[in-house]
Amino acid sequence: MRVLVVEDDARVAGQVTESLRGAGYVVEAAEEGEEAQFLGDTEDYDAVVLDLGLPGVDGLTVLQRWRAAGRSMPVLVLTARDTWRDKVTGLRAGADDYLAKPFEMEEMVARVEALIRRAAGHASPLLTCGEIQLDSATGRVTLAGAPITLTALEYRTLSYLIHHVGEIVSKTELTDHIYGQDFDRDSNVIEVLINRLRQKLGRNVIETQRGRGYRLVAPDDAEH
Ligand code: CA
Repeated sequence: MRVLVVEDDARVAGQVTESLRGAGYVVEAAEEGEEAQFLGDTEDYDAVVLDLGLPGVDGLTVLQRWRAAGRSMPVLVLTARDTWRDKVTGLRAGADDYLAKPFEMEEMVARVEALIRRAAGHASPLLTCGEIQLDSATGRVTLAGAPITLTALEYRTLSYLIHHVGEIVSKTELTDHIYGQDFDRDSNVIEVLINRLRQKLGRNVIETQRGRGYRLVAPDDAEH
């Protein structure tokens, strides 16, 4: 999962970025409004953490412009002021959730996780596909109840696919969401990751849709 962090305070930005990376997210950062707006307009993020007080274009304006342009990624707004009026303004501008500074990093990570999950249509942190279960709150994966050990990249891949269970996910989309911008797209690393997941979770759980991408399916829904 790929998150954009927009914050001009280097200390807060560093803590937010570190905490999200520690939780397995791919994080990109912007320090001012115009840069943030451009990234949000042109790149595909699973969530955005957006500070309202930014140099240049402020966070509220950036958010309003994204929404006006039809950008629907979940946005967690950060603000220095904790007043109900600010919350209402932020929510009306299209924010999905709200955190007043100072906040605990653990709470921020939990809120980002919940926003991403809900945006993909999942109410519970336990995401399932057939006998595979992924707990997006703890990062634990089980197969028929037995714990499965995945590398960080394998986990990110499975997490993206299980959030979008039943949908076809292209290789480019997977690359964007598990690596971020700076990655050699010609590499066959995605195929390698998919094959390692098949070895650990069962050969038929991830379908290859020739020329289109991959699809995570419960055994009963698989195309034969
Ligand atoms: Ca700020």
